[in-house]
Formats: sequence, C-alpha cells, structure tokens
Amino acid sequence: MATHLKGIKGMPDILPEEVQSWQYLERKLHELMSRYNYQEIRVPVLESTQLFKRSIGDITDIVEKEMYSFDDRNGDSITLRPEGTAGCVRSCIEHALLRNNQQQRLWYMGPMYRYERPQKGRYRQFNQLGVEAFNFDDPEIEAEQLALTARLWRELGIHEIVRLELNTLGDLPSRNAYRAHLVNYFKANEAKLDADSKRRLETNPLRILDSKNPDLQNLISNAPVLLDHVDRESRRHFDNLQQLLQDLGIQYTVNTRIVRGLDYYNRTVYEWVSDHLGSQSAVCSGGRFDNLVESLGGPASTATGFAIGLERLLILLKNANKIPTDSENKAVLICMGNTACKQSTMIAEKLRDALPSISLHTYFGSGSLSKLLQKANKAGAEKAYIVGDDELAAGTVTVKNLCNNEPQQTLTLSNFNSSK
Ligand code: ATP
Ligand code: MG
Repeated sequence: MATHLKGIKGMPDILPEEVQSWQYLERKLHELMSRYNYQEIRVPVLESTQLFKRSIGDITDIVEKEMYSFDDRNGDSITLRPEGTAGCVRSCIEHALLRNNQQQRLWYMGPMYRYERPQKGRYRQFNQLGVEAFNFDDPEIEAEQLALTARLWRELGIHEIVRLELNTLGDLPSRNAYRAHLVNYFKANEAKLDADSKRRLETNPLRILDSKNPDLQNLISNAPVLLDHVDRESRRHFDNLQQLLQDLGIQYTVNTRIVRGLDYYNRTVYEWVSDHLGSQSAVCSGGRFDNLVESLGGPASTATGFAIGLERLLILLKNANKIPTDSENKAVLICMGNTACKQSTMIAEKLRDALPSISLHTYFGSGSLSKLLQKANKAGAEKAYIVGDDELAAGTVTVKNLCNNEPQQTLTLSNFNSSK
C-alpha cells in the first residue's frame, strides 16, 4: 500500500462537520459588511516579497521570521500573504481607487500564512476578516469601525467575554522621540532583559513593551509611557475618539503598552482581547496607518482598518456555546417499494422544484420505514417526505414532521407521474 501523505503542519483541514460553523460566521460577516456599506475586494494570496517588506517593515516578527517566501520559476521572490492590508493597498494604488482623495470602505476575507509555532489559536494558515477605510481623516471612522466590531460581538453573543484596549502611537516624529527615551531606559536596565528583548532593543524597541515574559513585566510597567510623548494633534485625535466611544456606549481601557507588531501604524491602535483564548488573547486588532499608501507609491491617503482572526473568533463562539445548530429545513426523502425506489431521484427533483427552500437528502434503495425515520431523526432532519406505491399512483407525497407529533400531511406534486 502506498504511504499516505499528510497535510502541512499548522495548516488545518476544516472538515464538513465544522464547516457549518464557518458558514454561519461568514454569513453573519457578509450581512454586517453590507449593513455598513463596506465593499468586498478580492486580491491574490501571493504578492511580491518586496511588498510585505516595505509595508509591514523589515524588522518586525512577521518579516523577520514568519513569512512563507520562495522564488518562483522565474527567480522572483514571492510571498504567501501574512496579512491582507498590504495587498489591499497595493491593489487600490494599482487600480487608482484612491485617486483625488476618493474615499473607500473595503473588506476582504480569506487565508493568511505565517510560519509560527502551531498551537491552539495560532496556525500557519489561518483566516482573517480584514476591513479598511481610506481617506477618512477624523476619528469618526475609527469609531465607526469599533462600533461595527462591537455590534458583531453583540450579535454573536460574545460581547461579555471580549474587551477593547486602546492606545495612540502619535505621529512618526513623536514616536521616534519616544523610542529614544525607551532605548535609554532599557539600556540602563539591559542586564534584566531576555535575549529576545535585547535583540529588539537594537531593532524594534517598542516591541519590548509587548513581551509576554513574566520576568520583564515589572521593568516594562516602569518604562516611559508613550502617551506622555505624543504630539498635540494626535492627542486631540485620541481624545475625540474616546469621546465618540463614550457617546456610543463602547467600553474600553487605555493600554499604553499596545504598540502593534507592524510598522505601518500611527495614532490609533487597538486590540479586542478575551480571557477565554489562553495566551493567544487578541481576537481583533487594528488602527490607523496614514502613511502606508504613500510609502507604497500611492497618493497621500489616510487609512484605518482592522483584522479579525476567524479561528480565534470561532473558539470564542464554541466555548460560549453560541453556534446555532443548522437543522432548519433539513428533510429526507424516503421511497418505499420497488417502483417508487427506482424513481427516487426523479421524485427528489420534483420536490426540489416545488420546495426550493428545503435541504433534501435522498435515501437510495429500500429499507424499513421505521429504521429510515430513526436515521433521519438522528441526522437532524425536520421532515420526512415519504413516497410509496399509493402516493405514486395518486401523485402525492406524505409529509411527516419529525420534530413533533403533528398529524401527517399530504402534498400534491404536479406532474408527479410524468416520465419527464
Ligand atoms: P498575535 O498577538 O497572536 O501574534 P498579531 O499581532 O500577530 O497577533 P495581527 O497581525 O494583528 O496579529 O492579526 C490580526 C488577528 O489575526 C489577530 O488579532 C489574531 O486574532 C489573528 N492571528 C494572527 N496570527 C494568527 C495565527 N498565526 N493563527 C491564528 N490567528 C492569528
Ligand atoms: Mg503575531
């Protein structure tokens, strides 16, 4: 026997029994996007490696160690997208969607790829819903996007187990000034740093604030605070956003340690986190990235957006028991007797013509009625459509409700007997 090949580590299959919860979530997300009038954009999963290096930043975890990059047959370096913003911005520039400061509200959904250590809530292929808006300068857009996510949690029934943590990074000059303070502080305490943080001190010192190492927490909590260094305009933007969130009744805490792992953010950054996700606590992260479009060669365009990790969101939904079972309109067709059995496919087609909203499963072949009804019940069917010789002759179907003891009903199907 040939040895069977396994899937790639960290790239899970989603089997039929799980697909139902995915479809439920995807439906909810589609509806939500259309209620806020965001437009879907679909971009490839492969982009040039250079795009991610230039957007996410050379010295970030993603670019340094998480990208799936390889040379194509032409010798060009390409990368499986680790996130969606870069490709979305690239596409907007390429197709002039941001010309003349055109405003855009966009979304996309699909797989992302990062070479990380697989564990619960962290995979090498995972799915995100990404939402981006361009050319909105004021904090109303952050408020809109946060209201959208808050509504999503509410409507999915998990609003009580997620919370919003908010911060501002200020503009680039103030961030650089802060960076200098931070480096001084950590240099003075270098002996206390772990190897990872020592490396980051040289490359991306703000990321030290993000460290999960318990031994560093004390040091980090005494570090200079970014919020004390942000420029006046960014501070005003942040204050206005907070006022809007209060007006909307969206609760949040300011967490000055949220810096985000990607280089392109400025001003607002945030994470929706949950204590029900283990160490992978962030289910959604986002913020403002006003310089990205221009730095990728497009027209100066402000931007805000976020991404939701769908696997993590599904973990939350499952834990909270918030995935509805999908028995609605499930039905089976049971044919009794040789003549009806031979025609079961044809009868099923007629039923599907007459009842377009049902999901009809056909049992081929014969069997005892009671056994088949039991089987249908177990499979979660709501109704059984039964056709025997009598029904065939009369052009009818007997309908039995499997969820209650309602009396059986008889349905007449036109042209039931025609040999079409
Ligand atoms: P983390 O803190 O888990 O490393 P991140 O800061 O790298 O997250 P982003 O790049 O902001 O995450 O991605 C947005 C969302 O995508 C995260 O909040 C998370 O829900 C999800 N996500 C990120 N990486 C993974 C992964 N490897 N597997 C599953 N979901 C992920
Ligand atoms: Mg990460």
